[in-house]
Amino acid sequence: MDELTTYSAGELARGYREKKFSAVEVTEAYLKKIDKENSALNIYLEAFSDAVASAKKADELFQTSPESTHPLTGVPIATKDNILIKGKTASAASKILENHTATYDATVVERLKGANAVFLGRTNMDEFAMGSSTENSAFGPTKHPIDPTRSPGGSSGGSAASVAAHLAPIALGTDTGGSVRQPASICGVYGFKPTYGGISRYGLVAMGSSLDQLGVLARKVDDIETVFDTVRGLDKNDSTTLPARPAPNTHKRIGVPRSFVKDAQPDAVAEFERALNTMASQGYDIVDIDLPTAPHALAAYYIIMPAEVSTNLARYDGMRYGLHVEGESLLQDYTLSRTKGFGAETRRRVVLGTHVLSSGYADAYYKRAIALRAALVKEFDAVFENVSFVATPTAPGPAFKLGEKLDPLSLYLEDIFTVSANLTGDPALSVPYGTVEKDGVLLPVGIQFMSPKNSEKALFAIARDLMNENKN
Ligand code: GLN
Repeated sequence: MDELTTYSAGELARGYREKKFSAVEVTEAYLKKIDKENSALNIYLEAFSDAVASAKKADELFQTSPESTHPLTGVPIATKDNILIKGKTASAASKILENHTATYDATVVERLKGANAVFLGRTNMDEFAMGSSTENSAFGPTKHPIDPTRSPGGSSGGSAASVAAHLAPIALGTDTGGSVRQPASICGVYGFKPTYGGISRYGLVAMGSSLDQLGVLARKVDDIETVFDTVRGLDKNDSTTLPARPAPNTHKRIGVPRSFVKDAQPDAVAEFERALNTMASQGYDIVDIDLPTAPHALAAYYIIMPAEVSTNLARYDGMRYGLHVEGESLLQDYTLSRTKGFGAETRRRVVLGTHVLSSGYADAYYKRAIALRAALVKEFDAVFENVSFVATPTAPGPAFKLGEKLDPLSLYLEDIFTVSANLTGDPALSVPYGTVEKDGVLLPVGIQFMSPKNSEKALFAIARDLMNENKN
């Protein structure tokens, strides 16, 4: 492997400053590796040929005004295909947007461009970010870099696999119910979702607007923090963004909802317990907590999320965006365009969402799910009075085989531990702690920490304690 693709973002920044290598050399090394390895793994839908030109600009900045460089200047970043970069295709891995060119930059992209980061390419995902295996992509599944017969998780499977396979040092994803944390756990990298409103959603392809957040994947927690510090904060184009508020005080107490955790696979639970033992030896207090509503969070999520999908995806009518199929009437145009443009899972969720919102059913489904969400928020707020972190395995187990979970309900169960943080809006981080063996192959598993709103820095600190990473 070319050594240049082994460095973290922090190491790249140091190397650029010390003139050990240039951003052009690093970017070219990545593009070469992508060219060689991508066809087997289907991680990138497209690598950007103009990445070298951006890297050149970064190198010039290091030459002419090093004081105006940023820790991400010249650092290559992979972006999930639902994040808009002006002039580039943003298809959300859907046929309906296959030829859609973004007309503006997402706020996160604008901020990263401001830092002169280098956009390397767009990564594969489940269509519109619905799924947990990347098998719902209209452009074929992504394969796990350690075992290509397995899934990298999803929906940000391409982003997680890009970082794990050293096809990018860092990647952006989106997390509506776990889509950054679950593939991060399965691929053995860090995956972070901030507090709801922590990062602007402007320029992300909307799916479940009250749940969606931009997330970051990397091999070092420092890199996650650097990206978060660069893109976070108020944005006039997203009224849900939060101003920088003082972080709450945290202490070294971790709550573990044991009766909930036991739903994970035994070998994954064993690794989780091993992580907790390490935390205890680092001076953390591990206490049992009860989260009686958490096991029901998944049911509420799979009502609220499709409800929001059904309204957000109404804009894809064959007229305003993307694919248009001509019928004999306007209604037929709509029907044909959406039938041809959307995949099976997307159609399933639109139908489900429309149903749970329809009169006569909204009381039985949508309103009860909203009430459960409110109860869950209260439950977590009460727990966070006593502990600063809640820990669970990130996913029920390691990478599963492609095709193993084609039945939607078994795939939905992958999100059992991650959806709570989206429903409450609390930040969460998956830390690549352990491995379990399946068919003679060692596969990664992660531990998830959740914490109170605005306490992202505490999540980074606890990850460093667990993994013995020093802050740069
Ligand atoms: N797997 C979940 C779903 O299918 C989460 C998706 C996501 O976080 N984007 O809805």
